[in-house]
Amino acid sequence: MPQSQFDYDLFVIGAGSGGVRAARIAAGHGARVAVAEEFRIGGTCVIRGCVPKKLMVYAAQFADDLSHAGDYGWTIEGASFDWPTLRDAVARDVDRLNAAYTRTLDSNDVAHFLDRAEVTGPHAVRLKHSGRTITAKTILIATGAWPIMPEFDGNHHCITSNEVFDLPHLPKRVVVAGAGYIALEFAGIFNALGSEVTVINRSDAILRSYDIDLRDRLLAMTCARGIAYRFNAPFRQVEKLADGSLLVHTRDGADPVPADVVLVATGRRANTVGLGLETAGITLGERGEIPVDGDGRTACPSVFAAGDVTDRVQLTPVAIREGHAFADAQFAGTHRTVSYDAIPSAVFSQPPLAAVGLTEAEARERHGDIKVFTSDFRPMKNIFSQRIERGFYKLITEAQSGRILGIHMIGPEAPEILQVAAIAVKAGLTKADFDDTVALHPSMAEELVLMR
Ligand code: NDP
Repeated sequence: MPQSQFDYDLFVIGAGSGGVRAARIAAGHGARVAVAEEFRIGGTCVIRGCVPKKLMVYAAQFADDLSHAGDYGWTIEGASFDWPTLRDAVARDVDRLNAAYTRTLDSNDVAHFLDRAEVTGPHAVRLKHSGRTITAKTILIATGAWPIMPEFDGNHHCITSNEVFDLPHLPKRVVVAGAGYIALEFAGIFNALGSEVTVINRSDAILRSYDIDLRDRLLAMTCARGIAYRFNAPFRQVEKLADGSLLVHTRDGADPVPADVVLVATGRRANTVGLGLETAGITLGERGEIPVDGDGRTACPSVFAAGDVTDRVQLTPVAIREGHAFADAQFAGTHRTVSYDAIPSAVFSQPPLAAVGLTEAEARERHGDIKVFTSDFRPMKNIFSQRIERGFYKLITEAQSGRILGIHMIGPEAPEILQVAAIAVKAGLTKADFDDTVALHPSMAEELVLMR
């Protein structure tokens, strides 16, 4: 390779899922690559998102299993839960993954700077703490997203998902602001671990992007599990009382709700504040996101962006694909675009729900003539249980062709089952293909091929 006029071929800002993947793949194609990360290598998903959250979801599921255990003949005496044990175990696993991600960069000869990097021109970044300026032929912005904290009095008394993993104690009373992914996942975790949980949302909708039948069922089941909801109640103030506890005042005029922890989970905004993108001629979008074309290229030809910072689909596997496609296209000449069709997703609530493809409302709007198949069943594991919590599938097809447009499920293992079902939806299979498949009995997934 001829000696370059730049320090690196690629400089990546942000060592999260998208940035690390892009850096590693580009280096594998022979590029000289550096990454800057201002917090910890691994990014949101690994350090304070999906991974530690999922470990806490497992902890929450033990509560369910313990409550069922007696029905299966087990006597469990003196079961109790210790938050610091869980918190510290989760933190150790995060440390392990942080080290593994760092090793990945090292073993691929990717230089890394634990520093904040800001763009100072089309081919230059400045490291904030060291003051060093570094040049690169190509810059990739993969700085992810940051929790939005709405404006209201006392919002500094609240925490976000960034802080929730480090709480000193299991809070006795938790108020969660928002009714999206993060709100309902943590509401489920804290409820199962023994906290009193109230979810307060500005509208009367939970999980807006999911099929209405799943949302209604989740609401009913989580209410039955003891989560309280208050809708159409934007926050007015969070007041700190003399004893250190909090009081949440809402704009609907209802009684304030006491809390020990207030978790704000009202969406995440592209992490672009102060990044200096204007020095490369890049104008941010309305939500602070970086506008890009199908190849991840910004308005500046040498600057690209991938992952949540582009505010397309805020999901880790999408960021990874975008980072990978960018590196292949720019450093191996292999042009690949990321397909955003039929992306499966899940909410790790208690119980979880998962979906792929169109909701019933979307399918009706886009295709008109559709067929809807449902299965409402009692998961076998719950058969002995006092809790009447049913599982539910909805499968939507194009009426004429039978092509599957969407599959939706709420119930135990929904995310595991839907990941596999997503292959069929992505491949354009039909209901007849499902009907042709012999059931795997007894399982919950078999309902998928038994719907009539
Ligand atoms: P979501 O977009 O899922 O939900 C945001 C919630 O906050 C909604 O209930 C919304 O209400 C409410 N809200 C939005 N803006 C305001 C505001 N200004 N004031 C008060 N309430 C507001 O956001 P999350 O923070 O839960 O998650 C962010 C993203 O992270 C998700 O969209 C998802 O892509 C990703 N994520 C994915 C997970 C997974 O795959 N399992 C897990 C966690 C996060 P309304 O409905 O009325 O608009």
